[in-house]
Amino acid sequence: MAEALLPWLRAPLTQALQRQRGHALLVQGAAGIGTLAFLRALAQAWLCEDEGQGAEHRPCGRCPSCRLVAGGTHPDLKLLLPEALRAQAGLAPGDDGGAEAGRASKRKPSRQIRIDELRAATDWVVQSSSRGRAKVLLLHPAEAMNLQSASALLKRLEEPPGLARWLLGTADAARLLPTVRSRCQLLRLPLPAAEAALAWLQQQGLRDAAVLLAAAGGQPLEAAALAAAGIDAAAWRALPAAVAQGRAAVLAGWPLARTIDALQKLCHDASVLAAGGEPRFFPRDALPSRARAEALAAWAQSLARAARYDEHPWNEALLIEALVAEGSSSWQEVAAAGAKRARAAATLGQ
Ligand SMILES: [Zn+2]
Repeated sequence: MAEALLPWLRAPLTQALQRQRGHALLVQGAAGIGTLAFLRALAQAWLCEDEGQGAEHRPCGRCPSCRLVAGGTHPDLKLLLPEALRAQAGLAPGDDGGAEAGRASKRKPSRQIRIDELRAATDWVVQSSSRGRAKVLLLHPAEAMNLQSASALLKRLEEPPGLARWLLGTADAARLLPTVRSRCQLLRLPLPAAEAALAWLQQQGLRDAAVLLAAAGGQPLEAAALAAAGIDAAAWRALPAAVAQGRAAVLAGWPLARTIDALQKLCHDASVLAAGGEPRFFPRDALPSRARAEALAAWAQSLARAARYDEHPWNEALLIEALVAEGSSSWQEVAAAGAKRARAAATLGQ
């Protein structure tokens, strides 16, 4: 393989190879634990030509097939990902790291798997295999298919597979058509054990890894992404007090989606704390106490509304200021809170 397999993915990979039945597998896993890396390793293992290897040593990483996969030029492997995800994963826009790199344009990369892309890929997968072992179509995330694409996929899944192997990934299998789910074997990737995740994060040079791992909901790649975005443990710890005091400036420079996600996590933890539970995303001692539960509930709704529209070109600074003001009112006396909530509602309500 081009890169070493993330350590917490080894055991699930071996299991997947041992328990595989049928020609279509649906893997459910959070984005921040390396689901795409897992899918690529599994596809490579299916195509691996080192017959001597047991499941726990596949893919071998040395055989001709493994080398072709690593180079992005295996003739029996196709990755069907939305453009936006290809860009993120460092893949060429057109195909599997090779040939059709066309379609480079300045428009925003698509988050959907389009019907024409799906048709081309499903036509490809039923053709004969070049190296004679299998023909693998890796499609991720499956929820990026619209209804039309999903129906077209379904038709193909019902045909006799021959050497075709379908490898679908998803963050949430419940968002797929039940008919697609029922035609695939489902494999759930668990969150990594905290010790394994922390050890890996420390290897990456992350400081205060435990704080960022909690911030990322236990997803180590997401924790590393937070750090890479300049959100370190100190910034994360400082957030609750700053929001409670209405200081939106601490969020300057945070991408909008991350800002809203952080505020939602804060709102969650403050609500849990108000109900006498244990916070999940923030260190307990970083959370100001005595927030009012009704105010937090209203804030949660405003945040959910903002999250749904996080790609719209609002005035971001104004939106964040309003959301922080509304949040801070949860920690304030009732009279002052009312005015702030009205202001936030006016900014959001359009
Ligand atoms: Zn191999």
